[in-house]
Amino acid sequence: MRRVLIATSNPGKLRDFAAAASTHGIEIVPAPGLDELPEVVEDGATFEANARKKAEHYSRHIPGEMVLADDSGLAVDALGGAPGVRSARYAAEHGQSNSSDLANNSRMLREMEKVDDSRRGARFACVIAAARDGHTLATFHGEAQGQLLRAPRGRGGFGYDPLFYFPSLGKTFAELTPEEKAMVSHRGAAFGKFLAWYDSGSRQERAT
Ligand code: IMP
Repeated sequence: MRRVLIATSNPGKLRDFAAAASTHGIEIVPAPGLDELPEVVEDGATFEANARKKAEHYSRHIPGEMVLADDSGLAVDALGGAPGVRSARYAAEHGQSNSSDLANNSRMLREMEKVDDSRRGARFACVIAAARDGHTLATFHGEAQGQLLRAPRGRGGFGYDPLFYFPSLGKTFAELTPEEKAMVSHRGAAFGKFLAWYDSGSRQERAT
């Protein structure tokens, strides 16, 4: 089985990636030694900038190997695209790093309390960067469009999944299995583009 290294220790992301890869005979492996490396400061203005930064940083520590990293988040129409690149730390106090999913969802519900049903559109975005020896080889973008509920629904997923209603399935992302989520999610879409690139052999040309 082919192995792909992913630089994340977020169990929710690893589950999503594993589900997206499983039908393609690819095993998702967390990049080794991640916990011992200094963390990347995610201060880029875009998902792509942060994804590249993470993939380049971690690939420098695993010579010769292709390493993937993703940066992702939720952009809410009524909040002018917030929290965007700040999604993981939406409820954090000034100077704090990430806040818990529970705290982030509580803040989201508060901010959206007075927003009426016709203005609750939101979009998940994900950018995957593939890097080797500190250089980005390629990036892949994916999106998923949905609506924010007024109360959480479902016990699966992670992050904002229980608030993110996906109309064509009539469920939140937290009500989907990882495999169902991978078929429609921003991460699944970005990973699908990565796979097309990976299978086309471009990774070898670009890496030389
Ligand atoms: P980062 O990519 O590590 O900066 O974290 C992205 C943050 O966006 C996560 O901590 C979640 O709060 C949110 N997020 C990204 N993707 C998803 C998803 O698939 N479901 C729910 N929340 C997500």
